[in-house]
Amino acid sequence: MEIIKTIADMKQFAAAHRGEGIGFVPTMGALHEGHLSLIQRSVKENAVTVVSVFVNPTQFCPGEDYEAYPRTLDADAALAADAGAAAVFAPSAQEMYPESYDTYVETGGITDALCGKSRPGHFRGVTTVLTKLFHLVQPQRAYFGQKDAQQLLVVQKMVRELNFDLEIIGCPIVREADGLAKSSRNQYLSADERQRAVVLSRSLNWAQAQMDAGVTAAAQLIDGMRTMIAAEGGDVEYIEYVSRETLRPLDTVQPCSMFALAVRFGTTRLIDNLFVD
Ligand code: AMP
Repeated sequence: MEIIKTIADMKQFAAAHRGEGIGFVPTMGALHEGHLSLIQRSVKENAVTVVSVFVNPTQFCPGEDYEAYPRTLDADAALAADAGAAAVFAPSAQEMYPESYDTYVETGGITDALCGKSRPGHFRGVTTVLTKLFHLVQPQRAYFGQKDAQQLLVVQKMVRELNFDLEIIGCPIVREADGLAKSSRNQYLSADERQRAVVLSRSLNWAQAQMDAGVTAAAQLIDGMRTMIAAEGGDVEYIEYVSRETLRPLDTVQPCSMFALAVRFGTTRLIDNLFVD
């Protein structure tokens, strides 16, 4: 497997392999089984898989964990190779964003909801870096986790509306045995916070069971989830029930929707969601 560190080398690799069909998995590294599930799917569906490992500065807001974010390129490269990737692309922040850099890509509407409210500029950073990466890697397909459901919808919208010639594929959330969604940020949790954080998936499972039993009022489900999470000391940033097309809140349970939440345990911000169809 190749480790590519410059834009020039990435362009050369893409030009050589574009004809075979490139599958692409963009990540910020600290790879875990969630990332590996995307890589494995891409390896199955494409002749060549490229994984990017890039902690993208433009998607972090002031005061967030850009500096502290785990950087483990050697381990990531070994995991990506094991999963069958042909290349890891790990450019420098300096080459991606030289001093004079001043061009951004922004989707409207759905970026104002959910995480967009508390992370202004986050999705602009995501769509900007993905535009650059899509141009450099030239994939036929790109793989994203449903874990970051809003990101998946934003990327699908951008690709559709800007006529990018690639397919965006959403993949299911990979969880720990006790239900906590795998995340590179889980390693920030203390042992006690880690235990309590299980309440996120537990509250979503509870909401699912309530819906299975016939409950249709979103407010009732959200109140129940809020109570469960507060009992474990989670600091709720939002719990919402929204359309998966518009991300606007819905009052009653219906297809193509989701429960989405962001909760802090100590200083660690975790997200999770449940698709409803
Ligand atoms: P990140 O490195 O956090 O930017 O994530 C890179 C990609 O991996 C994104 O498409 C995420 O949605 C996806 N991902 C992260 N965690 C998980 C998970 N637990 N299950 C499935 N996909 C995930």
